[in-house]
Amino acid sequence: MRSTNPVYTGLPMTVFEVMSRLAKEHDAINLGQGFPDVDGPTDVKARAAEELISGLNQYPPMMGVPELRQAVAEANRRFYGLDVDWQREVLVTSGATEALSDCMAALIEPGDEVVVFEPLYDCYLPLIRRAGGVPRLVRLEPPAWQLDAGALAAAFGPKTKAILLNNPMNPAGRVFSRDELALIAELVVAHDAYAICDEVYEHILFDGRRHVPLMSLPGMRERAVRIGSAGKTFSLTGWKVGYVTAAPALLDPITKAHQFTTFTTPPNLQRAVAYGLAKDDAYYRDLAGALAAKRDRFAAGLAKLGFGVVPCQGTYFITADAAPLRLNVSDVEMNRRMTIEARVTAVPVSAFYETAPPVSFLRFCFSKKDEVLDEALARLGRWIAG
Ligand code: PMP
Ligand code: GLN
Repeated sequence: MRSTNPVYTGLPMTVFEVMSRLAKEHDAINLGQGFPDVDGPTDVKARAAEELISGLNQYPPMMGVPELRQAVAEANRRFYGLDVDWQREVLVTSGATEALSDCMAALIEPGDEVVVFEPLYDCYLPLIRRAGGVPRLVRLEPPAWQLDAGALAAAFGPKTKAILLNNPMNPAGRVFSRDELALIAELVVAHDAYAICDEVYEHILFDGRRHVPLMSLPGMRERAVRIGSAGKTFSLTGWKVGYVTAAPALLDPITKAHQFTTFTTPPNLQRAVAYGLAKDDAYYRDLAGALAAKRDRFAAGLAKLGFGVVPCQGTYFITADAAPLRLNVSDVEMNRRMTIEARVTAVPVSAFYETAPPVSFLRFCFSKKDEVLDEALARLGRWIAG
C-alpha cells in the first residue's frame, strides 16, 4: 500500500475528543473540552428555528448571507472602530476551525515559516504543516505565561510569512497587552508578513479589559486576518459559524480556499447569528460578567483545595498547578486518575506543547452551571483528602 499523508497519518486523536470520551466512559464531570453546559440566548435559537422552517434551506451565497456579512462588518465598527466593507472584506466559514484551515491553505507556501506561540491550540501545527509551512515556536510557560520579546523577535526571519496568534489565549487565559500587540505589529511590518488572528474569545475578557484586535494597530489593517466564532460569542459551539475579516487582497485567496473546503455554511444559522451580533451592549456585558463570576467561584475553590491557580484574564479556561498537592504524578496521569477516581475531567496542559511541556498543570473549563462547578470541587476535595 502507498503511504498516506504523513502530517495526518498516525496523528493522535485531538485531546478534546479524547477527554470528552474519557469523561463519558467514567461518568465524570467534563471540565475538559471547552463548551458551555447551558446554550446561549433563546431568541437566537428561536430565530434559527424560524429560519429553518420558513426560510431558505438551499445553498446560500458562497461568501455568506448578506445579513451576516453586514452584521460582522457592523460589529467590527461598533466594538473596535474598524471600517469594513462587508462585500469585499467579510467571509462566513463553518467555524473558526475552517477559517484557520482556509487561511493556511491560502496564505502559506511550502517552506514559509509561521511564527506561533506555545501553548498551541490543537489544530495549529497540523494545519501549518499540511500547507507546507514550517512552524517557528515561541514559548510561553505557566504560571506567568510571560512573552519574551527577544525570543519573539528571534523567531522572525527572512522566511517568515505569517504569525498565528490566539488572543485571548486558550489555554493560558492570557490577554496580550497593547505593548505586546504593538511589538507583534512592528515585527510583522518589518518582515513584510501577515498576522492570522484567532480572536474567538474576543467577548470573553475580564476585570474591565477590552479586546484589542491586532488589526486595529498601525500597519495591520492590510496585513491582519481577524477570525471570530459564534460558538464562543453565543455559547452555541455546535453551530460552527465562523467569520473572517480581512483586506480584499488577503480575503480573496482565503475565499477561494473556502469555496473548495465547505463552500457554504447553513443559511438558517447564519441568519440567526446575524440577529445575535446586533444584540445590545448588556448581552455582551452579561456574557463576560457571568463568566467572570464563575471564574472567581471556581478559582477560589481550586485554591482552597491546594492547587496553584494561575490568573485568568480572558477565555473560559483556567489553568492550575497540581504540584503543590504533592501527588507526584504527571498532568496526564493526574487527569486520568481524577477522571476515574474523582470523576472530574480536565485537560493536561502538556497536550498544548510540542516539546518539553510543563507537566503539572491542568486546564479546567469553567463555563458550567454553578452547581456543576461546586460538585466538581466537592468531588476533587474528597479525592484529594483520600
Ligand atoms: N480557536 C480556539 C483558540 C478555540 O479555542 C476554538 C475552540 N472552539 C476554535 C478556534 C474553534 O472554533 P470553532 O468551534 O468555531 O471552529
Ligand atoms: N475549543 C475547545 C477547547 O479548547 C474545543 C473545540 C474542539 O473540541 N475542537 O477545548
